[in-house]
Amino acid sequence: MAPEIKYTKLFIDNEWMDAKSGKTFETYNPHDGSVIARVAEGDKEDIDLAVAAAKRAFHRNSEWRQMDASKRGEILRKFSDLVERDQTYLAELESYNNGMVLNNAQAFMNSAKGTIRYFAACADKVTGETIPADGEVFSYTLRQPVGVCALILPWNGPVFVFLNKVCTALAAGCTVVVKPAEQTPLTALVLAALLAEAGLPKGVVNVVNGFGPGAGTSLTHHKDVAKVSFTGSVEVGKLIQQASGASNLKRVTLELGGKSPLIIMDDADLNVAVPYAAHAVFSHQGQMCIAASRLFVQSSIYDKFVEAAVKYAKTIKVGNPTDPTTQNGPQIDETMMKKVLGYIEKGKQEGAKLLCGGHRIGTSGYYIQPAVFADVTDNMTIAKEEIFGPVQSILKFDTIDEAIDRANATNFGLAAGIFTSNLNNALQFSKHVEAGIVWVNTYLHFTPQQPFGGFKESGIGRENGLDSVLAYTEVKTVAVSL
Ligand code: NAD
Repeated sequence: MAPEIKYTKLFIDNEWMDAKSGKTFETYNPHDGSVIARVAEGDKEDIDLAVAAAKRAFHRNSEWRQMDASKRGEILRKFSDLVERDQTYLAELESYNNGMVLNNAQAFMNSAKGTIRYFAACADKVTGETIPADGEVFSYTLRQPVGVCALILPWNGPVFVFLNKVCTALAAGCTVVVKPAEQTPLTALVLAALLAEAGLPKGVVNVVNGFGPGAGTSLTHHKDVAKVSFTGSVEVGKLIQQASGASNLKRVTLELGGKSPLIIMDDADLNVAVPYAAHAVFSHQGQMCIAASRLFVQSSIYDKFVEAAVKYAKTIKVGNPTDPTTQNGPQIDETMMKKVLGYIEKGKQEGAKLLCGGHRIGTSGYYIQPAVFADVTDNMTIAKEEIFGPVQSILKFDTIDEAIDRANATNFGLAAGIFTSNLNNALQFSKHVEAGIVWVNTYLHFTPQQPFGGFKESGIGRENGLDSVLAYTEVKTVAVSL
């Protein structure tokens, strides 16, 4: 049965509102392309209202600013209890609007409480420092919340990215305006309602759905927004940095795309490496910024590995996300499905060998059978551009030095991985690869304590860890004459 759609309006000042223009937009179920709901479409006027609410809530005399940091942590802990209470509904809604396999959405919701509680515990760990007296002047620093923050979300992990960004900003004491992706507007509204139920004062968290060129640009150009935290494409990340500079030099945290290398050395345990390599690129239909979309396999085991990878990919069951036996669901929408199929066509034209999958399944919904390409070379489009779909590209290398150089020959630098039983190889690779996270004999392993973010065009700044909370603060030095 389809989950109930409880909220479709804008959430501003802890109230549900229609868009000032009265406009709404349709949101869909990627399983069959059917319309799920019409959602209020925010634009500049609504963003102005939401930012004004967040600014009032950030005033030095407001309830939120007067609140002890430990009490902010308490509200977040209460929020985590409410998320746990409603986790089945949240998983169903995420799956319904995003196409995420329900089992995976449920597994994520099981871990959400830990994420929220981690940031709840950070709230009262934000402290300044004292600086030794210099002559007659003693100095200390204050860490203060940066102000109103714009949190702009992608469609591929709506609940996950909402929780990460919002809880981090709240732990630091900021107020926020959230702009979910237009493809997945629903779960953010449920989470906002739960935050209000947890006791968050009005105006601290506001959610305005809408489109990038309307609500998104209004936020990034707004003079009362002090910081933007954005997760999405490199292209839009660059626009956001420009807008931040052109308006009021907003602080920016950018979590962008990737073309992550995974290295399989000939001393790796293939029984482990083959399934990991498949999960690293096919999970969530390949719609992951950290997808291991360049799989480098050492030449001595190349043929054997490719054979096993194809055998494995053929077993992946693609289908309705609510079916408990399904492993891969649909792509988010028709545009993305066509984009992925276009890359697969390009791979064939440029001479890569398609060994399995790569075609649309059925005519309803946006399903693609996982594709494995062999004989991929560095100059092919499928080895250079982020595909964001279930496409495994297998490249051949001879030495670890060569693998490191080729892994780094990209403008991206988000994640990387290596499977090897040789400690030296693992350490050399980890030291020299240009990536924000390196997995050794594992992949896709996350905790809220691990800093996460990209080198090069994969982003600026880090999420997770106490440092990510500090990134929502300003340091103030106070010098006192003794
Ligand atoms: P996108 O860049 O198209 O959109 C992301 C968000 O930005 C949406 O909310 C959109 O409405 C908004 N937006 C679009 N144009 C805007 C503008 N000019 N000003 C302000 N906001 C604007 O990305 P997407 O297609 O939703 O997500 C896929 C991309 O996100 C991939 O490149 C993926 O790698 C990346 N991603 C990165 C991470 C990470 O943590 N590094 C995580 C998930 C996704």
